[in-house]
Amino acid sequence: MTKKTYHVSIDDDVLKKYRIHNTGERQIDFYIMIYLNSPDGWSQDGYFFEPVEKYKADVWIRMSLSKTIEEICGNSPMLSCAFLGGKHMYLCAERWFGGAENSGLDIQDYRQYMVSHEMGHILGKEHAKCPRRGAKAPVMLQQTLGIGECIPNTNVKE
Ligand SMILES: [Zn+2]
Repeated sequence: MTKKTYHVSIDDDVLKKYRIHNTGERQIDFYIMIYLNSPDGWSQDGYFFEPVEKYKADVWIRMSLSKTIEEICGNSPMLSCAFLGGKHMYLCAERWFGGAENSGLDIQDYRQYMVSHEMGHILGKEHAKCPRRGAKAPVMLQQTLGIGECIPNTNVKE
């Protein structure tokens, strides 16, 4: 197993907008840990993800508002982002709480997709396309924008 340590932080304006208090923050940490270590996730490539203090972490996961992410990553609105092979991952709060209809996933599955997709970038994976009609949508497809003729999926190995 390859250990990857990470730290989650939630921006103050996210806490305020969604009225997240202490247990709410811990709940988000908990979900992220579950998604990262899910049997559907990168554990299939031998990774184990461990939450640690910020300055000991290999990966910094930050939940931010769309406008903050646009400024940092220069991407389109309402997308999460992560630097390829890098340390920094930004989860779009509006998507975390609102999901993305075009993905065909319910909110829990969409959150899992979001975490696995962005961690995929950290692990050096680039975007994928829907391989053929009726295939499972790859996790490295930008599912937020739509899955084409693929079917919904959260497993990184499909
Ligand atoms: Zn991406």
